[in-house]
Amino acid sequence: MHTGALDELCAQMQREIPGFSVGFKDQSWHQRALGTLLWPLNRSYVNGYVTVLGRTAWWPNEQRFRNDPKVLGTLLHERVHLWDWRDNPLWFPASYVLFGPVVWTKRAHWERRGYVIDLVLQQRQGTPVECQKKWMKQVFCGSDYGWMWPNPSAIEAWVDQVRERGLATELDGALLASTQAWVDRIAPPRA
Ligand SMILES: [Zn+2]
Repeated sequence: MHTGALDELCAQMQREIPGFSVGFKDQSWHQRALGTLLWPLNRSYVNGYVTVLGRTAWWPNEQRFRNDPKVLGTLLHERVHLWDWRDNPLWFPASYVLFGPVVWTKRAHWERRGYVIDLVLQQRQGTPVECQKKWMKQVFCGSDYGWMWPNPSAIEAWVDQVRERGLATELDGALLASTQAWVDRIAPPRA
C-alpha cells in the first residue's frame, strides 16, 4: 500500500544523510547483544523498538519494516534523530549513553522532537487527548528510556501544546517544512 511512499522517503533520507540505511536487529549480533545488556531496563529493545545509531535506523526485523502500516510515521520520527545526530555529532550520542540530570533532560528534548510527529499523526486520526497523555507519560516517565522526563504534569501540558501548535512546538526550519509535507500526505488535515 505505502511501498511507493516508503521507497520515496528512504531515497529522500539517503540524500539528506549520506550513508543512511535501515538495519534489522534480528540479523545483527551486536544489536542482539545490546538487547541483552539493556534487558533490565527495556525488555523490548530488540523486538519492540526502532533505534537510530549513527546513520542507521535499526528496525526489529524486515517484516515489521515492510508491513507495519505506521512505518512512515515511525521513519519520520527516526529521521529527526538522524538529523539531530548529524547536526550534533558529539552531544546527541552522549546524551543517550551517559546518565545524569542534565543529560536526562537533553535526551527528553531529542525525544520530544521525535514524538511530536507521532502525536500530530494520532490527533489527525482521531486519538483522544487522554490516550495520548497516558502514552507519553509511559514513554517519558517509564524505564524504557531510563526515566528521562519524570514530570507527569509537564508532559500533560506538553501534549496539550502539541495539539494546539502542531509540529512547530518542537521543529523549525527545513526539518519542520519537509516533515509537515509528509505528515499532510500521510494523514491529510480534516476539513
Ligand atoms: Zn525517538
